[in-house]
Amino acid sequence: MTVRPLLALVALLPAVPLAAQSVADTSPFRTLALPAPNRMRGASGAPGPDYWQQRADYVLRAALDTAAQVLSGTGTIHYENHSPDTLTFVWLQLEQNMFAPGSVTHVLSQPPLLFEGGAVFDFSGKGFTGSVTVERFAAAGHELVRTVEGTLMRVELAAPLPPGGGVDFDMAWRFVVPPDGAARMGRVGGRLYEIAQWYPRMAVYDDVRGWNVLPYIGAGEFYLEYGDYDVTLTLPAGFLVAATGTVGNPLEVWTPEQRARLERARAAEERVQIVTPAEARANAARRAPGTKTWHLTARTVRDFAWAASPEFRWDASGWDGILIQTFYRPGATLWEEANRMARHSIRFFSEKWGRYPYPHATTVEGPIEGMEYPMLTFVPASAKREDLYWVLMHEFGHEWFPMVVGSDERRYPWMDEGFNSFIDYDAAEDYFRGTVYGDTVRRELLYQARAAEQPGREQPLITRPVESRDLSWTAYKKPALMLTILRESVLGREAFERALREYVRRWTNRHPQPADFFRTMENAGGRDLDWFWRQWVYTTARLDQAVDSVRAASRDSTWVFLSNRGQMTLPVTLELTFADATRERRTFPIEMWNLGSAFTARMATAQPVVAVTLDPDGRYPDVDRANDRWRREPATAP
Ligand SMILES: [Zn+2]
Repeated sequence: MTVRPLLALVALLPAVPLAAQSVADTSPFRTLALPAPNRMRGASGAPGPDYWQQRADYVLRAALDTAAQVLSGTGTIHYENHSPDTLTFVWLQLEQNMFAPGSVTHVLSQPPLLFEGGAVFDFSGKGFTGSVTVERFAAAGHELVRTVEGTLMRVELAAPLPPGGGVDFDMAWRFVVPPDGAARMGRVGGRLYEIAQWYPRMAVYDDVRGWNVLPYIGAGEFYLEYGDYDVTLTLPAGFLVAATGTVGNPLEVWTPEQRARLERARAAEERVQIVTPAEARANAARRAPGTKTWHLTARTVRDFAWAASPEFRWDASGWDGILIQTFYRPGATLWEEANRMARHSIRFFSEKWGRYPYPHATTVEGPIEGMEYPMLTFVPASAKREDLYWVLMHEFGHEWFPMVVGSDERRYPWMDEGFNSFIDYDAAEDYFRGTVYGDTVRRELLYQARAAEQPGREQPLITRPVESRDLSWTAYKKPALMLTILRESVLGREAFERALREYVRRWTNRHPQPADFFRTMENAGGRDLDWFWRQWVYTTARLDQAVDSVRAASRDSTWVFLSNRGQMTLPVTLELTFADATRERRTFPIEMWNLGSAFTARMATAQPVVAVTLDPDGRYPDVDRANDRWRREPATAP
């Protein structure tokens, strides 16, 4: 190689101002800026050697007055400070204050969120006003100074709480149970209660933000500490209870017949009716005097919810030692199948993503459109079998995200709703396999992409839920589409699923942040995915792959000129059709775009290519399908 003098070359360079020669790194493959890894959260996406999180154990005693609709409680919280910081105050959540006249939700009075498919999420309380009265919040026998700020309460500690220290709070509180608790809890008159957000809960103190003090104003759900629960509920004697946790006093709350049927159900593949339709009708008609007290315990959960009614039918079955229960009113006719749906969901998710960790999985039919708590979900009666399966299964999917993998729902709904929606399509395809619904349900993701991807209107997936104008897209459908494409077209099924299982395993009963997920998928999946997360999570990048032209380069090779005209980059699959009408698929990895947005696919071909189709299975949300196809012009007759 000869080295020529540079002088002549310099003379050839155009006279461009120096400033204009400077370019930023606009490569789609540039490094994604994430928080620096540290000893709490490692570079591999796993919890680091110094990872810590706080612990909160609750003992709660509550009574429900079904005439005044007042729930009153007393209890203790044992709070352990595992952080390296000394705390002088703590924050708690008082969600029922969302309905107070001065609350953010009440003052703004925003219209309900409308979801694709007709679901309406109304956080307003539908005209109800109310709030929590905290009658006592004490430690070591002394009332603590507290300040209520909307749905949050700051409590001054009597003495600083050092690292490794613990404090026992002693509390008493009460609130009027709203008929419509922001679509997440509520009641039907005095006959059916679905109770959640019902006790003062510790806000999360973590290594990323310290106290997490985003208020509860509606769209953003919950971020909670793990701990054990010991709960005592005193309710009208005729009520049957379904709850997070295991019943500790079965002899007092269930009849001998119910207990015998329940024992049989534990080993049953098909439902055993614990309360039959006739018994449910008789229970509903009877006015049992007095009260009954239920004792429930749960270990290592991030929340506790319960439901109660004198009108429930109750079916149960068992899978792998897990009791599967469905409680519903006799009018909910589709619920005859609900136990089978529930059992399928728990088994399917367990086998795919890690075994369900709790002793029972229970779902309750009622007015709530669909809501999830540890071991317990609230699901509506539904008019269509497919809808019932979807909601019932979706709420159980939440047992993995966010009950087991305890992400921050208030900031990152895509890490629970989105991950859950993704695993839901697999479950629905399995349950309805061979039917039109089962074989096409996932395609709705692409239809919704088309509807949502409007320039100037669409927001990035990372948008906080309270700022999202289309939560159904940003929190549910777009992340489900993202993970579908990551699995099917980028990582491959095996690598993807192994990585997602690894994420679940690493962050079980812990608090992952987005970077922990990104890093785990890259490390366990075996690919740099910075480009992928940037496009899908942080931008509204759109995909437009195109086949520009095709040339027969020689007798046995064909060049296909491809271009990437949008902002999103993805690997390319193309289908070649040959002169003899046979077809062949060729797949090009993401590295095809390393040198820019044009790529020439040089392929050995045995015969002339007459047509080329990009994305032949239609998996991508490509905004312009017209340029995805090339066809050789038919020869014109002489
Ligand atoms: Zn959900």
